[in-house]
Amino acid sequence: MAVRVSSACIGCQACIPACPYEALYINEEGLCQVIEEKCVACGQCVEVCPVSALSLPEMAHEAKEDLTTLAGAEAAVLSGDLGRYQGVWVFIEQREGQIMPVSLELLGAGRQLAQKLGVELAGVLLGHQVCGLANKVYECGADKVYLVDNPALRYYRTETYMQVFVDLAKEYLPEIILMGATTTGRDLAGAVATELRTGLTADCTGLDIDLQQRLLLATRPAFGGNIMATIVSKAHRPQMATVRPKVMRMPALAPGRQGALVQKEVSLKEEDLLTRVLEIVQEQGEQVNLQEAEIIVAGGRGLGDRDGFQKICFGLAEALGGRVGASRAAVEAGWIDHKYQVGQTGVTVAPKIYFALGISGAIQHLVGIRGADVIIAINTDPNAPIFKECTYGLVGDVFKLVPLLTEPLKELLTQNKADLQKQLQGQGGINCA
Ligand SMILES: Cc1cc2nc3c(=O)[nH]c(=O)nc-3n(C[C@H](O)[C@H](O)[C@H](O)COP(=O)(O)OP(=O)(O)OC[C@H]3O[C@@H](n4cnc5c(N)ncnc54)[C@H](O)[C@@H]3O)c2cc1C
Ligand code: SF4
Ligand code: SF4
Repeated sequence: MAVRVSSACIGCQACIPACPYEALYINEEGLCQVIEEKCVACGQCVEVCPVSALSLPEMAHEAKEDLTTLAGAEAAVLSGDLGRYQGVWVFIEQREGQIMPVSLELLGAGRQLAQKLGVELAGVLLGHQVCGLANKVYECGADKVYLVDNPALRYYRTETYMQVFVDLAKEYLPEIILMGATTTGRDLAGAVATELRTGLTADCTGLDIDLQQRLLLATRPAFGGNIMATIVSKAHRPQMATVRPKVMRMPALAPGRQGALVQKEVSLKEEDLLTRVLEIVQEQGEQVNLQEAEIIVAGGRGLGDRDGFQKICFGLAEALGGRVGASRAAVEAGWIDHKYQVGQTGVTVAPKIYFALGISGAIQHLVGIRGADVIIAINTDPNAPIFKECTYGLVGDVFKLVPLLTEPLKELLTQNKADLQKQLQGQGGINCA
């Protein structure tokens, strides 16, 4: 059974890259066609179509079923049943006893939501021998930590984590659950939401509260990034959202801040669990940690070819001690690996300085860089959308302007480093005596 294309298709091509099975193509009339043998009806193309021309055959039936549930749930809202749900929860994702930074970022965002709703903020910490991490969670703004410490939770496993999380949620009825849109968070959130039969908005870039109806307003790019959609779960609780790392700001730490610990015992026997972790294999090859970079020099199609990209981007990045990033156009041209791609289908970054060199500033790229403190754009086209978003913009040719910047910046940095070194050694510092 394959996806259907209706006569509403306008041939915009947004669905073509969305299909991982290469089952879609644009025919001679400029309209979308499906290669039925290739389509596995996964539905990934459906949501990117800006004119809703794509549909799965069984969707009509499912939608009907959902409406029945919705009617019941809406009755529950009206009868005040959903009012039993209180509090904002953040899933504290830890690996090997280290909290993932996105969980701390979400505590900052969760604190604001909890304040607006006048409820408490809690962190949910699952793992083995992770009790010591609770203090950090309080320091980042949580009033409470729900802790389940069990050897079976040492490594993340979908069913095990999902069951423990769902049991907690059923017992304590949180109003909102936030998780990082990491591999683990995305996996867990979907499983938890399905089990709780509630609404989940994935990959949000903004969170707010409609106080009147106590609704979580979860904003995310939709239709291939062409619009920003704010999604609400009117009739179901908890309201769930995953948020990409680096979209929310890290909260200021309140050292020594304390909270309440709610420790739950669970009995999990390894032999009863469906998944076994046999080995953890560290990722091989070059690590590209763009999310932690303070300076990113990103290049796009405007760099012409692979040589231009390498020379300009790596040259400036090296001079500034920064990392290299790329637009999807540069990645698709084969100039650099996908792990360097910044944007909606790449990584979200929040450096102090982001250079956009020969990048037009398509919305799918911009959603990945909104957390940058300073954006410097160089582009030959004065009407390029990047100029509406950047802090500083230079209209000109990257091949002329970047070399003019690289050498002076390199010299300035070397000079600064030397001055700092002198000061540290007490040779050139200001004498306060
Ligand atoms: C579902 C979906 C997901 C997507 N996800 C992403 C994503 O994660 N990341 C992403 O980047 N894109 C993504 N895209 C693609 C996005 O829509 C754009 O096509 C892409 O960002 C364009 O890349 P670019 O700016 O490098 O190229 P272009 O849009 O072609 O822009 C090149 C720019 O370089 C300028 N230029 C040319 N020569 C020079 C020169 N010598 N000096 C200075 N400037 C010059 C031009 O004026 C132009 O503005 C996605 C698209 C879809 C549909
Ligand atoms: S339903 Fe899935 S496989 Fe079929 S065309 Fe859409 S994305 Fe491709
Ligand atoms: S996204 Fe929709 S309108 Fe655009 S080509 Fe595909 S089916 Fe047609």
